[in-house]
Amino acid sequence: MNQAIHDASPVADPAEPVMQVARNGYCTGCGACESIAGSDTITMRTSRGGWLRPTVLKPLSEHARAVIRDVCPGMTVRHERIEAGHHLLWGPLVAVRAGHSTDPALRRQGSSGGGISAIALHLLESGKVAFVAQIAVSRTDPLANELQISRNRADILRAAGSRYAPSAPLGRLREIIALDQPFAFVGKPCDIAALRRYALHDARLKANLVCAISFMCAGVPSILGTHELLKKLGTSADELKTFRYRGDGWPGMARAVTRDGRFFQTDYNSSWGTVLNRHLQFRCKICPDGTGEFADIVCADAWYGKDGYPDFTERDGRSLLLSRTRTGEELVRRAIESGAIEADDLPVDDIAQMQPYQVYRKQVVWGRRLAARLARGSAPAYTNMGLFRAALSARPVSALRDAIGTFRRAKGEKQ
Ligand SMILES: Cc1cc2nc3c(=O)[nH]c(=O)nc-3n(C[C@H](O)[C@H](O)[C@H](O)COP(=O)(O)OP(=O)(O)OC[C@H]3O[C@@H](n4cnc5c(N)ncnc54)[C@H](O)[C@@H]3O)c2cc1C
Repeated sequence: MNQAIHDASPVADPAEPVMQVARNGYCTGCGACESIAGSDTITMRTSRGGWLRPTVLKPLSEHARAVIRDVCPGMTVRHERIEAGHHLLWGPLVAVRAGHSTDPALRRQGSSGGGISAIALHLLESGKVAFVAQIAVSRTDPLANELQISRNRADILRAAGSRYAPSAPLGRLREIIALDQPFAFVGKPCDIAALRRYALHDARLKANLVCAISFMCAGVPSILGTHELLKKLGTSADELKTFRYRGDGWPGMARAVTRDGRFFQTDYNSSWGTVLNRHLQFRCKICPDGTGEFADIVCADAWYGKDGYPDFTERDGRSLLLSRTRTGEELVRRAIESGAIEADDLPVDDIAQMQPYQVYRKQVVWGRRLAARLARGSAPAYTNMGLFRAALSARPVSALRDAIGTFRRAKGEKQ
């Protein structure tokens, strides 16, 4: 993967399906295609729009093309079937809790309550996994996201906190598979959807993947969003020593520290709410899975409410914890029993108060996808995601208005 900004125009056949996905704005930037085809054939590079996109270096084999067609979340996202217990809005659910890591540093450095980090560390310390594959900041570039193979608490702590910028954790999946050890994987919902399908094509991956962990995701902002945020703070990428988007509290500050020792910060409302969320990639706007339906365990912000809206007042962190599979539930229960996490059961209906935006997204995505298809001539195939059913629960007028807005954006927005 290359972090310098490149022209994302293809050097190989423009009819190559991977390039079409990128051109149509349906690429999530997960990097699965790089691992499937090999880095000598596809490499992920930062595009002019500030997203990680595949560049095809040489023609793909028919086999690679077929696997990519089955795995790429820009082409397809699907459950094999809608199982009993599939919630209209929240997908497969076994248990719902809210809680936090009992390790004060993980709770503080974590994005919400350090739930993901606590589970990851518990898996390592209990010997369930040999490593955790997760995104962390690059050791050489304070703005770049890189895959980290975490083997101890220091590694997990280093990766804690959300990084609201592109990441391609599946780009190095071949290396992970080659380690041939039991592991846990942390990624965005689209990364996990692709990982699950990839595992159907690779027996070693399937055998070694102990647990897939995700988080609720409102979309990935371009790295240009981070540059705009830095400018608003009064600094720039050239001056940076470190940068974090949040964490170190809940929700915590976006904080830039420069090499000459100055620091700049702003709150979550201003960083995410007024800058970063205006730079989301198009695919995220038609995402069928903002809540990690393919993961074993999902964490999210268990926001407290105020006047019907999430309240971003600073306080001790709290994670929403969803067990989506029996495996996930078993692992969460053990993490609680071992004392790694403190958590209480939560009624399913409480999730909507904590995550109102995810409710809205799920209700409008059927219409948004249709609008994108009409505007761009193609759209990813979403199968057994319950989207039509969810659309029926939306307010018809606002859903229609939303779809028209997507159509206009899909016509106008450059990729
Ligand atoms: C782009 C993005 C959008 C999000 N949108 C929402 C949302 O709509 N609602 C919501 O409740 N939460 C959202 N989150 C997640 C939220 O910020 C927390 O991650 C979640 O509450 C879990 O917190 P935690 O304390 O349990 O995680 P932590 O213990 O802090 O662990 C966070 C984990 O996320 C991984 N990670 C961080 N950034 C990335 C990245 N860019 N790509 C892949 N992995 C990454 C880290 O490796 C780490 O393992 C989003 C996160 C991101 C990165």
